[in-house]
This record gives sequence, structure tokens and C-alpha cells, in this order.
Amino acid sequence: MARKVLFGNWKMNNNLAEAGALLANLKEHYQEPTEDLLIGVSPSFPFIALAVEELKGSPFQVSAQNISSENSGAFTGEVSADMIASLGAGYTLVGHSERRALFGEENAILRKKTDLALAAGIQVIYCIGETLEERRTGKLESVIREQIEQVVFGRDAAELENMILAYEPVWAIGTGETASPEQAQEVHAFIRRLITEEFGADVANNLSLIYGGSCKPANAQELFACPDIDGGLIGGASLKAEDFVAIARSF
Ligand code: PEP
Repeated sequence: MARKVLFGNWKMNNNLAEAGALLANLKEHYQEPTEDLLIGVSPSFPFIALAVEELKGSPFQVSAQNISSENSGAFTGEVSADMIASLGAGYTLVGHSERRALFGEENAILRKKTDLALAAGIQVIYCIGETLEERRTGKLESVIREQIEQVVFGRDAAELENMILAYEPVWAIGTGETASPEQAQEVHAFIRRLITEEFGADVANNLSLIYGGSCKPANAQELFACPDIDGGLIGGASLKAEDFVAIARSF
């Protein structure tokens, strides 16, 4: 059985004081055992060390939102997987749709990022999903297949133990429009079939497939009740401790 997983993607929000207050609030209001739910936050780079420190003794893990596709050297402005690991954070997002759309990150680059993260001992939350145009023109399955084939396939099965896949339909991110539980379940089942074909049923059934896209306290429960939805990647609703904790309690 795949582990239940919930991460909050803060995106480029919160200054130092706001980040500190949110971390303290989360720690105060959520102290459940991690065996039941792997839970974490993804702050911006400047606050990763703070989050690691502040969340000590809490169930919360810390994730970066992105890492460089290079290891070290003359890459001004970049942050490497090794740097993130040295701060004590154990996770990173890779391939968020905003990185793909706004920063031109393609599957080949995302494979490199995934390789470097895994080599540094950082677990990868790999994000995939189709645009509205791709869904409308019948390309949903081919887009998802390509995103998975080019980044996930061809790995040792053991590497998948350190990966989580986040299905985030681009049209549902930050738009208030959520995929219906049926729409999300259908794609999650398709993803699990793809993983089964390449890696076998054991690997596929143990891989956590989480949903992202306008997930909030009001709709989390019905999404997480779907058989192939193992949790969520939460954007907007992760910026308020109360909402994020309510989502965590909807499993
Ligand atoms: C996200 O950015 O990963 C996301 C799911 O955002 P939101 O919940 O705001 O749609």
C-alpha cells in the first residue's frame, strides 16, 4: 500500500516573519504520527534552513520547490541538490507546471534534476499534468505518458522508493477549479497502470500518487477517498496553517 502524503507548496510567498509564523502555527496545531501521513512544507530557498530548524520535533518534513540541473560551479543564482541536502531538507519538487511553463523546463532537464536529487539523498516529488488545451484535444494520456516515460522510466525500481508522483492538471492550479474526484481518479489509475507496465505491480502499488490543483478543506476528503489518490500537493491552501491542518485531517 502506498503511503499517504501531503505537501504544501508555498510558491514565492511569505517573508521571513510570515514564514516563521506559519511554521510555528503548523508545529503547534499538528502533531500526528508520521506513520499515518508523510507531511511537509516547501518554502522558498531562503527559508529552508529556518523550516528545518523550526520543525524539529514535529512531523513536518521540508522540501525545496526546485533544484538546479547542475551539481556545482559557475551557475549564478542556482541552488544544488547537495546544498539542499546539507541544510537537512529531505525532499524537492521537480517539474512543477510553473517551472515547465514559465521557466521552460522540459522533461530532459527534469530527468537530470531528478538524477541529482536522488544522488544527493533527496526524495523527489515529480509533478506532471496536462494543460486544458491538451485535455480538450485528446492529448491527456500522451502528455502524461511522455512526462513519465522521460523522467521516471529506465530507473532502478529502488529509486522509485524515493519518488512521489504529483498529478496536477495545469488548468486546476491556482484557478479555484478542481478536477472532480472522478477525473482525478481516472488519471491516477492511468498513471499507476503505466508504472505497473514498466516496474511491476509491487512498485506501482507502493508508489504514492498525490493530487494537486485547488485542493482545499472543502474538497480534500472526497479526493483522498479515491482508491488511487494517496494524498495531495497543496498550493494556496497551504499558506494558512488552519486550512493545511484541516486538509491533513481529511484522510
Ligand atoms: C500547486 O501549486 O502545486 C497547487 C496545487 O496550487 P493550488 O493548490 O493553489 O492550486
